[in-house]
Amino acid sequence: MILRTSVLILFLATLPIVLTGQQPAAPAGDTNPLLKAWTTPFGVPPFDEIKPEHFLPAIRAGVAQQRKEIEAIANNPQPPTFANTIEAMENAGELLAKVNPVFSNMQSSNTNEQLQAINREVAPILTALRDDIRLNPALFARVKTLWQARESLGLTAVQIRLLDEQYKGFVRGGANLSPGQKERFRAINGELSSLGIRFGDNLLHDTNSYRLVIENEADLKGLPPSVVAAGADAAKAAGLAGRWVYTLQAPSIWPFLQYADSRELRKQILAAYTTRNDRGDQYDNKANVARQAALRAERAQLLGYKSHADFVLEENMAKTPDKVYALLNQLWAPARAMAIREAADQQALVNASGGAFTLEAADWRYYQEKIKQQRFALDEQALRPYFTLDNVRRGAFYVANRLYGLTVTPRPDLPTYHPEVQAFEVKEADGSHLGVFYTDYHPRAGKRVGAWSSTFRSTRTKDGQRVTPVVVNVCNFSRPAGDEPALLTLEEVGTLFHEFGHALNSLLSKSPYRGLGGFPRDFVEVPSQIMENWALDPEVLNVYAKHYKTGEVIPVALVEKIKKAEQFDQGFITVEYLAACILDMDWHTLPAGPEKDPAVFEHAAMAKIQLPRDIVPRYRSTYFNHIFGPGGGYSSGYYAYIWSEVLDQDAFEAFREKGLFDQATARGFRTILEKGGSDDPMTLYKAFRGREPSVEPLLRKRGLK
Ligand SMILES: [Zn+2]
Repeated sequence: MILRTSVLILFLATLPIVLTGQQPAAPAGDTNPLLKAWTTPFGVPPFDEIKPEHFLPAIRAGVAQQRKEIEAIANNPQPPTFANTIEAMENAGELLAKVNPVFSNMQSSNTNEQLQAINREVAPILTALRDDIRLNPALFARVKTLWQARESLGLTAVQIRLLDEQYKGFVRGGANLSPGQKERFRAINGELSSLGIRFGDNLLHDTNSYRLVIENEADLKGLPPSVVAAGADAAKAAGLAGRWVYTLQAPSIWPFLQYADSRELRKQILAAYTTRNDRGDQYDNKANVARQAALRAERAQLLGYKSHADFVLEENMAKTPDKVYALLNQLWAPARAMAIREAADQQALVNASGGAFTLEAADWRYYQEKIKQQRFALDEQALRPYFTLDNVRRGAFYVANRLYGLTVTPRPDLPTYHPEVQAFEVKEADGSHLGVFYTDYHPRAGKRVGAWSSTFRSTRTKDGQRVTPVVVNVCNFSRPAGDEPALLTLEEVGTLFHEFGHALNSLLSKSPYRGLGGFPRDFVEVPSQIMENWALDPEVLNVYAKHYKTGEVIPVALVEKIKKAEQFDQGFITVEYLAACILDMDWHTLPAGPEKDPAVFEHAAMAKIQLPRDIVPRYRSTYFNHIFGPGGGYSSGYYAYIWSEVLDQDAFEAFREKGLFDQATARGFRTILEKGGSDDPMTLYKAFRGREPSVEPLLRKRGLK
């Protein structure tokens, strides 16, 4: 089972230059907890003391501090050295590096109108700071001098890599532009930052504002008891006791589409989902999308690239749009053919059951579910009692223990930002502290949709000591419903393991520099996606998949059925995902030019690949948060999931060959995670696998071959 729901938020992408240095003393009598030293265990953020009004003054102070430090580096009368320029930049901005991740995380997972308003004020300040650093001629001159002499400075390989990355960051950040171009470049960045935030706020609005209210019990026909109970709970929470409410949140809409007999209501809720921010009202994102695409193309042209995709992909493993399209096209034809076969099976079922209609998007999940039950006798609802949230999380911890010897223990004494957030300490096999891990698993109005892993503090080396990371997983899983605990679907089980894989990556990293902390976008899903493979392994299921009432381990026969059904529906899943990848690439390979009408553009892009009419791309342009949301981190990068999957499937083969918990293989893979961005990912991969990755395991897994 492979998922596409996960977003890793990389704050370094927003603000590449941050870090250590002396923290200014708070003014006497200042009560802002963000400006004081954190005396919590492990120095985690004192969430219980932080209030929204603390952010703006703290971020302003952090920006002022970083500006001062950067000025001092740029104007240093001493000739540039690695220590007084490159390392000094790494170490500048300690306060901002401490405060901004807290603020950014709250924007994604626990926001409200007050925080959204602060964000609209903060974003231009941070964008301007980044531009002022990148476009500082004196600073760039120092970096360039060092970069030109990099082979003769007696630096280590990692130091050279950091210098190289810093230099590239300046060039890609506009340092070589003329003064007039720099001005335009700044203006574009400022506008893009605001557009991304507006896009995300609009999406949150349209996602939260819709609800399907059911008054008539007959309309619930087909829904399993747990889905009915969840609808009743949601109604109660909305002050509509006695009715049932379904929303556009994942745990609500997808089961509804899978099971509701009422075709009319399925159509209604799906239409609400697929027309989000495309209704011509004040929350419409079409003009926003058109503008972002045009601005990105213009910025790429300023920097000397053919398109935004050319600009982005240079930094990824893929390197060029051609390479990305080559992989997508290789998969498109077989996936599309498989989806068309799946649709034909469904249409046959529609006809056989007397339905006189042509299959539409709102029918797909419903009839696939029926066929799945016929063909595999696999009822997903029958699995859920074995997948309580606590047990699944325990299963993920178990895998980390067997692979890497890590232990994870609850720390209810640590402050959290919401009562549903739980804190854990992660320790090495020898008992030493590795990092802190938070989980935040259920939907709420202030949380963006999807699932992601993020950090409150990234690792680095400071004064010879490893700074330990503070990591969080944020998801939108099914809540406890009625008197049942939270019971996860198979897909949610995979997502939990997936995000925990990202968390392990952050926890295990030993990168000495924050500037070298992360993998490129199209490698970063390898550590997460590979974890999904352990989730459904019989040996692992045996440990964690226990019935919440009886404690009975999931029966072998049920596990067999899961395994057998793994390739089922892969045509649909692959097609809706690839269609979104192609939409992303098409938007971002546009050359600079006039704005495009998103409706026309999207229609043409999908017509070109002959997207079957009963499948909607996984994300349409107006709600494609990965690529047009705040930061736009996955623009020209949505393909990264399948690119990474080539690698993670090939990597998991190594475990299949040697043993699921083979210690030598685990050590080899751990080395990749520890090195992080401090080495080239293909070099790391080849050192692990002894050869380049092969696409064959991916094709086999998805049944595309
Ligand atoms: Zn991910």
